[in-house]
Amino acid sequence: MSGIRQARLSCGVEVPVLGQGTWNMGDSRAAHATELKALRLGLDLGMTLIDTAEMYGDGASERLVGEAIVGRRDEVFLVSKVLPSNASRPGVARACRDSLKRLGTDRLDLYLLHWRGGIALGETIDAFEILRREGLILQWGVSNFDVDDMAEFVGRARPGGCLVNQVLYNLEHRGIEHDMIQYGVEQNVRLMAYSPVGQGGPLLRHPVLNAVGARHGCSAAQVALAWTIRHRGVISIPKAATEAHVRENAAAAALTLAPEDLAELDAAFTPPRRKQPLAML
Ligand code: NAP
Repeated sequence: MSGIRQARLSCGVEVPVLGQGTWNMGDSRAAHATELKALRLGLDLGMTLIDTAEMYGDGASERLVGEAIVGRRDEVFLVSKVLPSNASRPGVARACRDSLKRLGTDRLDLYLLHWRGGIALGETIDAFEILRREGLILQWGVSNFDVDDMAEFVGRARPGGCLVNQVLYNLEHRGIEHDMIQYGVEQNVRLMAYSPVGQGGPLLRHPVLNAVGARHGCSAAQVALAWTIRHRGVISIPKAATEAHVRENAAAAALTLAPEDLAELDAAFTPPRRKQPLAML
């Protein structure tokens, strides 16, 4: 039994608040064995939610995930995403079956529209519902939807239909704190924070993160992760292709930031004072 706190989705299923992202994984033959080990270690450590997408490496990420979950499918909460260009009724049906083939499974736990494109939202919802009736997906949701798009989407769906909105959220991008987090709580839509460690960039070298980490005997990345999951409604999906990073990330679930840590982080990374358009990568 892992020590990672669980979050209950509106469908009643519990998932760990820390999962595993897989963008840019599966592309390199040289890194293949290391990446496979990293994902499997993440499962061993309780990060059993895995996020992938048909877009990542043109299916290479899904193929890698498929390999990582061989013999362990039932342990995993598997998330993939359909491209907006495939979000029509026939497009979703085809894209989902292709994803399932690459993943070597008969079902996705959660299927997300990667971002809003030109296809009518109602058509994509219908396509998701057909997949659900066929048992190819268990639940569906969206990604990169701002509050107005969410309201439109949720308004067209059956109650409780849209489970998750996956959005950019880290200390450098706090815009969703103004409105989206509250909206998610009110509508029972969980937020899934992507790029939570700022893609391993300057965020992790920030002196305040390092100072807070030093007080807890933790790394800056662990502070960044613990910060994203301090909200009950947020699940975080760091990507780590190395075992050392995976171990560090799983251990971040045990870090509770104190009020003085949060105040110091707020002073360095100002919370939003007004509406900001949703940031995305
Ligand atoms: P991220 O998870 O913030 O950062 C990944 C980078 O940080 C990698 O270079 C990784 O290195 C490094 N890293 C991970 N853990 C670390 C640690 N403990 N210490 C130091 N460095 C660490 O960025 P992301 O990959 O953009 O976002 C996470 C996931 O969210 C993606 O993989 C994807 O599944 C999803 N995502 C979704 C969207 C969307 O539009 N829906 C957009 C972006 C991302 P190594 O790999 O070398 O270990």
